[in-house]
Amino acid sequence: MILYDHIDTNEKGHLTIGGMDTVELAKKHGTPLYVLDENVIRRQCRIYRDAATRYFGEGALPLYASKALCFTAIYKIAAEEGMGIDCVSGGELYTAKRAGFPAERIYFHGNNKTDKDISDAMDMGVGTFVVDNTDELSAVSAEAVRRGITQRILLRITPGIDPHTHRAIITGNVDSKFGNAIVTGQAMDIVKKAIAAEGVSLAGLHCHIGSQIFDIEPFADAAKIMTEFISQIKAECGYIIRELNLGGGLGVRYTEYDREVDYASAIRDIAAVVTSLCEKNGIQMPRVILEPGRSLVAASGITLYTVGGVKEIPGFKNYISVDGGMPDNPRYALYQSQYTALIANRATEPRDFRATLAGRCCESGDLLGEDMDIQRPCRGDTLAVLVTGAYNYSMASNYNRLPRPAVVMVRDGEDRVAVKRETYEDLVRNDVI
Ligand SMILES: *Cc1c(COP(=O)(O)O)cnc(C)c1O
Repeated sequence: MILYDHIDTNEKGHLTIGGMDTVELAKKHGTPLYVLDENVIRRQCRIYRDAATRYFGEGALPLYASKALCFTAIYKIAAEEGMGIDCVSGGELYTAKRAGFPAERIYFHGNNKTDKDISDAMDMGVGTFVVDNTDELSAVSAEAVRRGITQRILLRITPGIDPHTHRAIITGNVDSKFGNAIVTGQAMDIVKKAIAAEGVSLAGLHCHIGSQIFDIEPFADAAKIMTEFISQIKAECGYIIRELNLGGGLGVRYTEYDREVDYASAIRDIAAVVTSLCEKNGIQMPRVILEPGRSLVAASGITLYTVGGVKEIPGFKNYISVDGGMPDNPRYALYQSQYTALIANRATEPRDFRATLAGRCCESGDLLGEDMDIQRPCRGDTLAVLVTGAYNYSMASNYNRLPRPAVVMVRDGEDRVAVKRETYEDLVRNDVI
């Protein structure tokens, strides 16, 4: 086992995922290649679903924050596992529709829904809009009135939490591009406008404090601020907020230095806090919505590459170049995200070579990691980067005119292509000569 149960080695010394030989998968499907263990995604969905209903009650619903990994098959899995979903664009909504995802379980997010997005989402019958600002509230209200419907909405609220200092601080994140801050009075203002607006029914509030959070405290802080705000709305407007969406953000183990997370216990602990806060503030326990992205899909995925050049610069550093890079995984280039890498065809050998993992783009910043401990590779080896299920494929680009890799899902000894590898023809499809 390497980091997770589903990642292991076999008798040939090859890395396996869900029991399948990654070297064989690379041979069969080519590289770079995203491989996802479908059972891991389903297991994570069940952990969230079971814990949400057990600790928050029957109505509680986890939504899959689908920006983490978006393609048609993933929405089918989310539907089968009884999840709701969070979509942030017309493209995500379109993909969910194509997958036959039940529209009433869709929450439509984003800080700038265009008029077309709003009307497309209403055509689809999207259950809930998470309204970001007063301009958007007016636009949603006007479109709903025009159609003679009542659109269910939540309002995005900024509780003012800095999850990385683990404290509620007055200024922390109040200046976010998302939502309406409580401390500035803007949150109460939009609540009053939403209560009065035609064509919308205000079901509740939403907050999302950040990502890759390992502690419960920031969620407890957010819950405290939100429940106090709900009680303030009750006192000032006589209006009962029935739904509270606490966002996503629970952390994921990417390297052996990261903690393992017990998601069910985390949800239990957050639920205990919310329950006692509701009692303290004299409000009814709202229907709680959770919105995990990363923690549902990250661990399920690995990326396979073929090693090209291995460059040792004496007295400086070593480079391993692979046939992908920032176009299939921009996370190191964007925010120095740490990963674990292995040579898949010699996975049981000691990782005693320290190297910088370089992509193939004409860009010095095109790296997948620096100072990584890995087996000493040679040209033609298969290299695996682990825990790439979230924010890799969904952030992929065609920089340097590189086709996006295929996505292969494995389950119970079978592999199937969920997204085909892009071809050069795909790259020029929209070019007009
Ligand atoms: C990104 C995002 C999430 C999911 O965050 P994770 O860290 O992937 O769990 C949930 N809600 C909103 C509004 C988001 O923007």
